[in-house]
Amino acid sequence: MRILIVGGGPAGLTLAACLKARGIESVVIEKAEKGRTGGYSIGLHVNGWNVAERLGLIEAFKAKAMPLGPALHRDRFGRKLFSYDYRTLYKASGGRILAIMRNAFQDILTSHVEADVDIRYRTTLTDITDDGDGVDVTLSDGSRDRFDLVVGADGYRSALRAMLFGPHEAFLRPLGYRASAWRVPVTKPLGASFVGMMDVDHQGGLYDIGDGHAATLFCWRDDRTDRLDPDERREILNRQFGTWPEPVASALRSSVDWDEAFFDTVAQIEVPNWSKGRVVLLGDAAWCLTFLAGQGTSTAMAGAYILAAELADKPHPQAFEAYEQRLRPLVTRMQAVSRKIGGHYIPQSRMGMRIQSWILPIMLSKPFAKLAASQFSAPALELDA
Ligand SMILES: Cc1cc2nc3c(=O)[nH]c(=O)nc-3n(C[C@H](O)[C@H](O)[C@H](O)COP(=O)(O)OP(=O)(O)OC[C@H]3O[C@@H](n4cnc5c(N)ncnc54)[C@H](O)[C@@H]3O)c2cc1C
Repeated sequence: MRILIVGGGPAGLTLAACLKARGIESVVIEKAEKGRTGGYSIGLHVNGWNVAERLGLIEAFKAKAMPLGPALHRDRFGRKLFSYDYRTLYKASGGRILAIMRNAFQDILTSHVEADVDIRYRTTLTDITDDGDGVDVTLSDGSRDRFDLVVGADGYRSALRAMLFGPHEAFLRPLGYRASAWRVPVTKPLGASFVGMMDVDHQGGLYDIGDGHAATLFCWRDDRTDRLDPDERREILNRQFGTWPEPVASALRSSVDWDEAFFDTVAQIEVPNWSKGRVVLLGDAAWCLTFLAGQGTSTAMAGAYILAAELADKPHPQAFEAYEQRLRPLVTRMQAVSRKIGGHYIPQSRMGMRIQSWILPIMLSKPFAKLAASQFSAPALELDA
């Protein structure tokens, strides 16, 4: 069996690694250049952790993990609101979570597969025909090929999904926010793992990467879903956060590499069936949870692991069905969690800010952290069913 994976992000690369482990050949096509896929931080939770362990990669991820320490929250004038400590959450999860820059995460997966998997960068799909016995594809470099199966792991704005399943808008569930994230140098130490600031309809902050840089994350209420060019992005960020004090002020002045940075609508993807004929969707292309759930990477990795296991065991129609049956309940649950978190994460009023300042430190304190983790984190999937 030979499989084309469209998209070399967490979902696509993990799938390539899991297929490799089962002796199945895959080719990955990735739109971006090598190493230019996301200057923001992602968290690995139980399902991603369990897959990383099975692939023998967990020690490599741990070695590149960002430091865990206190998180300080302030209002938009820099006045302290509340604080908690990520180490409490870490302990509550049995030490099985970590935060890592997406580039570092991708580098580890890439090094793991690239000797055996053909990864073609700056390459996209321009045409696809599924004739029932196989799938003919034309790539942006002009080459043509035929595969047994094609996996769409090309993210939230999946081009493959648009080609075969329907237009982007048909599957979009916007949550009413926009967000942006990029990497900045820090000249003055942050003094915490995370320094966040909030105001009504706004949340912004910097995560310490631990190498003299920080990863920003800004989110604000915005119902529009149109794509914006870099000048418009700058203009909106300045309009929303331009009067905020340090460390936000320096972050906004920093130069941004928009090929690596994130700027988009915060929206979920809901596709009624993840497969069609010999083509199947995986990760954000199938079920984007949004960053609010904090579980998109781990769910993509678990999806990849389960898809590979099912394909090694069954003909593709049954494998696709089993994969969807095993993943769908978790995805539905985490999409609901992500919508709920959104309502609290971006305070809608001064009262909402006060409630958040009061409740969050309690929820994330030692006696309650386990309970909070069980409410908002994904349960561990049975990977080897
Ligand atoms: C700011 C931010 C913070 C986040 N924080 C967390 C977190 O803490 N924890 C967590 O678990 N998740 C987090 N997420 C979510 C997580 O990043 C995604 O859920 C995860 O990356 C999904 O992986 P994916 O491979 O399905 O899609 P993507 O990460 O979108 O990867 C898709 C890949 O496909 C490529 N591609 C796109 N179009 C094409 C095309 N036409 N042809 C070929 N290739 C293409 C892209 O370049 C990319 O490499 C965060 C997301 C953001 C934006």
